[in-house]
Amino acid sequence: MTRARNGSGGSAQAACGHGRPGAGAGRRRTLASGAGLRRLHIVDGELAHPKLPLVLGHQIVGEVVADGRRVGVPWLGWTDGECRYCRADLENLCEHARFTGYDRDGGYAEYTVADERYCFVVPEEYSDDEAAPLLCAGLIGYRALRFAADAERLGLYGFGASAHIIVQVARHEGRRVFAFTRPGDSDGQSFARQLGAEWAGGSDELLPEELDAAIIFAPAGELVPAALRAAAKGATVVCAGIHMSDIPSFPYELLWEERVLRSVANLTRSDAEEFLALAPQVPVRTEVETFPLEQANEALSSLRAGDVRGAAVLAVARVV
Ligand SMILES: [Zn+2]
Repeated sequence: MTRARNGSGGSAQAACGHGRPGAGAGRRRTLASGAGLRRLHIVDGELAHPKLPLVLGHQIVGEVVADGRRVGVPWLGWTDGECRYCRADLENLCEHARFTGYDRDGGYAEYTVADERYCFVVPEEYSDDEAAPLLCAGLIGYRALRFAADAERLGLYGFGASAHIIVQVARHEGRRVFAFTRPGDSDGQSFARQLGAEWAGGSDELLPEELDAAIIFAPAGELVPAALRAAAKGATVVCAGIHMSDIPSFPYELLWEERVLRSVANLTRSDAEEFLALAPQVPVRTEVETFPLEQANEALSSLRAGDVRGAAVLAVARVV
């Protein structure tokens, strides 16, 4: 499901190479690049140390110039392979990780350089625009969902790019999904129901039953005690955002009885391989609005205003 906004893409290209940063061997043109929340945070200065100057764009679908393969490059773009986390297959926590569109140049460019280890085959069922949100919104959501273990009643707080993908995976796995949006967002709530949520309402509303797990995608710290309050004994509340406003203090009884509160950082390569294999089986349908590259700022404004349904994608390279 792709909806174009204001015409198709420009004539830029982006590129992908191999190996360590600066040692790119191949060039790759970028076909689409997601305009997700991480980019917003970089622009807003909420992350501490972005590389400057920086080419933004952290979820990239492109073509390897050398051999024409279509690959996706996610947010986690390079790891050292040597630290204690990498050795434990937790490369998402690598001590020297480098991130696409943050401290590695991203996809809003003609060519970009990517590490072969972090270039993943994109399922052929998806167009470039449809595939871009799988690589960030989908992957971080998938990793968060794995931490929900076998929870049957799953709450999703914030119904944007990640949740619209994960509700479909969760339904496929036989879970019951409850979606929380901004209070009064009836469009978002009906979108959630269309995608399989059995209940959708404002984050200020009370559920008729408890949750076995909750995933918080919205960067709003006040949702943490709200989700804990909705959680059953032993339930896990997963914070899936890279940034969140301060969490207000809350009584210990909300955490008591073995409730678990945790965050999720980045992705591992096995997350990417599993999720990109699973997505076409569900099948996950991504809803994207495409913007031409020169309207990157309009895309960000629409995301901020909450009027993008699903994910925003910049069509970077309709190569001439
Ligand atoms: Zn490492």
